[in-house]
Amino acid sequence: MTTVILLGPPGAGKGTQASRIAQRLGIPAISTGEIFRANISEGTELGRRAQAFMDRGEFVPDSVTNPMVKARLQAPDAAEGFLLDGYPRTLDQAHVLRDILADLGVDLDVVLEIEVDEDEVVSRMLKRAQEQHRADDTEPVMRHRLEVYHAQTEPMATYYADQDLLAVVDGTGTIDEVTARIFAVFDAVEA
Ligand code: ADP
Repeated sequence: MTTVILLGPPGAGKGTQASRIAQRLGIPAISTGEIFRANISEGTELGRRAQAFMDRGEFVPDSVTNPMVKARLQAPDAAEGFLLDGYPRTLDQAHVLRDILADLGVDLDVVLEIEVDEDEVVSRMLKRAQEQHRADDTEPVMRHRLEVYHAQTEPMATYYADQDLLAVVDGTGTIDEVTARIFAVFDAVEA
């Protein structure tokens, strides 16, 4: 059983690294943003409830997000561990997650923060905007997502550092370089 939370600003490359970590550890990568986007493209009720918030770069309300995560963590494929990408994003969500995991009798193993400075993140998101045309990748919405990240998500790192769970990895360089740094963290945890 391995349980991992991936932290880092929008544009830090969490999605790419999440799938590599998940593959190496044989666990599912669970991205709340991906789940919302899939629901929006399928036109579900959940997607309908999330869309306006996402388009503005706001958080989807906890009343939608928390039960969705709780249900996802109880799916059979998460029984051997999971990697969470994009959740928790606030201290309130971190507390909800603590309670969900306590209910499931699961401990958190590692919280991995991918660190990338603001200028780099903005230039990566602008590039992604040209390639993927994500609705929330326009510059004003990106800037807002970054502000929200600094105000609400970054402080969570302290909460996990206080529990000795936080590992910080430099997210600059090539994708492979970042992956190598991340795997070194897991090697150290497993040793
Ligand atoms: P990024 O890391 O680039 O912000 P994500 O795919 O993780 O992209 O998230 C996209 C959007 O999905 C967020 O701006 C937010 O609206 C919504 N979202 C994702 N995860 C959460 C969460 N844990 N709580 C609330 N909203 C979320």
